[in-house]
Amino acid sequence: MSKSPQRIRGTQDIFGEDADRFQTVVAAFERVRRLYGFRRVEMPVFEATQVFARSIGETTDIVSKEMYSFEDRGGDSLTLRPEFTAGICRAYLSEGWQQYAAVKIATHGPAFRYERPQKGRYRQFHQLDAEIIGAGEPAADVEIIAMGAQLLGELGIGERIELKLNTLGDPATRDAWRDALVEHFRARQKDLSEESRARLEKNPLRILDSKEHQDWPIVDSSPVVDDFLTPDAADYFGRVTAGLDAAGIKWTRDPRLVRGLDYYRHTAFEFVTEDLGAQSAVLAGGRYDGLIESMGGPHTPAVGWAAGIERLSMLIEQPGATGMDAALVPLGEAAEAAAVRIAADLRRAGIACEMAYRGNMKRRMQKANASGARYAIIVGDDELARGEAAVKDLQTGEQRSVAIDRLAEAVRGG
Ligand code: ATP
Ligand code: MG
Repeated sequence: MSKSPQRIRGTQDIFGEDADRFQTVVAAFERVRRLYGFRRVEMPVFEATQVFARSIGETTDIVSKEMYSFEDRGGDSLTLRPEFTAGICRAYLSEGWQQYAAVKIATHGPAFRYERPQKGRYRQFHQLDAEIIGAGEPAADVEIIAMGAQLLGELGIGERIELKLNTLGDPATRDAWRDALVEHFRARQKDLSEESRARLEKNPLRILDSKEHQDWPIVDSSPVVDDFLTPDAADYFGRVTAGLDAAGIKWTRDPRLVRGLDYYRHTAFEFVTEDLGAQSAVLAGGRYDGLIESMGGPHTPAVGWAAGIERLSMLIEQPGATGMDAALVPLGEAAEAAAVRIAADLRRAGIACEMAYRGNMKRRMQKANASGARYAIIVGDDELARGEAAVKDLQTGEQRSVAIDRLAEAVRGG
């Protein structure tokens, strides 16, 4: 006998309460993105490999070792999206979304990275994503951070999550900081992890984001960006922090915060928690003014963030009862046909109800109790003849007769 198929490592089959939590997160995101005037988009799950390789950066973890790339039957190199931003920027150019600039965009869905699976880290995971394209004002940074903060607040986890903020400055700042970092790390090269030594020449900023413990003391003593900020870059950052203060959003400065993608300029931020073990970042993003230009488009300032739906789902309290309002309990065959019609009418009236496919009265009452429904609607022949059914409150045990055409009212009214 052949073994039945197994789930692919790093993927998830999300069931029941976990799926309810997932939906709670998505529903909150949908609410909040409307409050902030973000338009919904749906994006392809795969793109030409170049869309990601160039924009995210060839030397980043994502591009160098995490992408799911494959050749399709036509011989083109395609990649399952590891994140949303690059594809959205591609669409901004190829689909003429420039006409809507400055455009606020929101989406969510699966993303794929070949990583070592662990709690809060999967190979197919799911992101919420928000972007503002075509706005270079600090007010855009403030708005998109405020939107993220409000989402966390609405999910009831705002207090457990800290906003860490940094600026990477303008290109002049970044270049000067980069040179200083190379000098610092080169002098301590022999104590760096192998991975960080490899990053030294190609992408020294990435060392700041190292997950290797042995690098941490060297990172902690490295030069901070503040010493290299040009007056313009400092002014920009000052206006972002002033805006956050005005919006009542708490933040902490982390002058060594960088992001795992190369395209960031100016503002970079992460909402982090201590409640998820090593997987501390739940929502992260920043400004990426150079990205669209690097794709061959016009200079286009933009800012955005992405959040891990699974990580948010793990943090929220149990979603509110998503159970049934009522369960139908027919007594006998004639009543069963009537109950089918009653159930259909109740559902059309917006009452969540269900009826077991089989079983005697005792079995069905057990099922009604197990469903979490507030009421059992018991349909017997005598009551049917009078055009009524019995409504039993499963919390108090109280029971009363109700006219069939008033059942929805009775259940809704409590
Ligand atoms: P990390 O440092 O945890 O690897 P990252 O910097 O690679 O995160 P981003 O590229 O900023 O993550 O993605 C945005 C968000 O997506 C993260 O903050 C996290 O919540 C979530 N995320 C990223 N990778 C995964 C994954 N493999 N599984 C689950 N969630 C993920
Ligand atoms: Mg990562």
